[in-house]
Amino acid sequence: MGGESNNPGYNPGVKGRDLLDLSLAELSSAIEAGEEPSFRARQVWAWVWKKLETDFSVMTDLDRGLREKLAAEFTIQAPPVTASQGDDEGTTKVLLTLADGQTVETVLLREDRRRTVCVSTQVGCPVGCSFCATGGMGYVRDLTAGEIAAQVLHFARALRLQGERVTHVVVMGMGEPLLNYGATLRAVRNLNDPQGFALGARRITVSTVGVVPGILRLAKEGLQVSLAVSLHAPDDGLRRELVPLGERWPLREVLSAADHYAERTGRRVSYEYVLLREVNDRWEHAHALVRLLRGRLAHVNLIPFNPAPGLPYARPEDGRVEAFRRLLVASGVDATVRWSRGTEIQAGCGQLRTR
Ligand code: SAH
Ligand code: SF4
Repeated sequence: MGGESNNPGYNPGVKGRDLLDLSLAELSSAIEAGEEPSFRARQVWAWVWKKLETDFSVMTDLDRGLREKLAAEFTIQAPPVTASQGDDEGTTKVLLTLADGQTVETVLLREDRRRTVCVSTQVGCPVGCSFCATGGMGYVRDLTAGEIAAQVLHFARALRLQGERVTHVVVMGMGEPLLNYGATLRAVRNLNDPQGFALGARRITVSTVGVVPGILRLAKEGLQVSLAVSLHAPDDGLRRELVPLGERWPLREVLSAADHYAERTGRRVSYEYVLLREVNDRWEHAHALVRLLRGRLAHVNLIPFNPAPGLPYARPEDGRVEAFRRLLVASGVDATVRWSRGTEIQAGCGQLRTR
């Protein structure tokens, strides 16, 4: 787990430094060190983040000497698709192969006019939640900032062919983003940069299983990023069974960190709750959840469990899911059900699996 170790330019297996790992300021110093005027950096930045280019040789408003220097020093990674599932209408899932041969899954969800890319932040996940296929894989490594951003750029290029754009990013794929804090934030800032990809911070959602120091740190970034906190249980006993990190950060601390985030940013926090049949989907759980959240600036996303081989849970009946939601809403807790449209292709975002 890196956290601090997001060393720009480090990218396992990438030849040269990955330009996607750099901020605009870092790119400027790299280019100015080569005695080029600083507006050159902004030109390169626009090629990469606006025009989505990966090949220096077509950046024809730069002189040939600079193009060659850039090509000698940098790569702009665009991990190839090894497998894909889905269609051009609903959900598309791709398996991208990174430079060192590891693979990650990225999902595009099309919903009305929304085009949401769900990105991974780690290969595997060190948290090991008992209902999560990624958790069952164990932890392999953190992704770099470039590898996180490249997943978004992949779908941005695909959508551009249809005259469309990425409208939202959710950091809800494989891995726990706040245990790879440095790379995740760097990718978020680069995607948000108004001179480049220019995706509004409010359109970026970071989902955490409840890494308290990460939430507090995120609150200080001065970004309007949306925060989603994975709760899954209304009491610590049950939560510890489902989310091993619950041992380290009890609900009280997680909620107080989320409250702080809401206060600091003025953003409503959303709480994710995977519904597992007969485990956390009963009336008593719904009532306890209401007691926990009532009076907070909160929204609950109920996610009916997506079955996957080897996971010892079942999905509640649709009627039970709907009744759970109604109880929350009737008690003053705003809630919606995320009927994951990807189930049929095993592509529910947040339940990504490398085979
Ligand atoms: N690690 C972060 C983000 C990735 S998981 C987190 O846990 O929040 C993203 C979401 O997918 C989480 O809310 C998680 O609970 C959910 N998820 C994981 N496995 C699932 C499954 N089998 N069915 C439905 N949702 C699942
Ligand atoms: Fe990791 Fe999130 Fe899966 Fe838990 S739910 S194992 S934190 S990816």
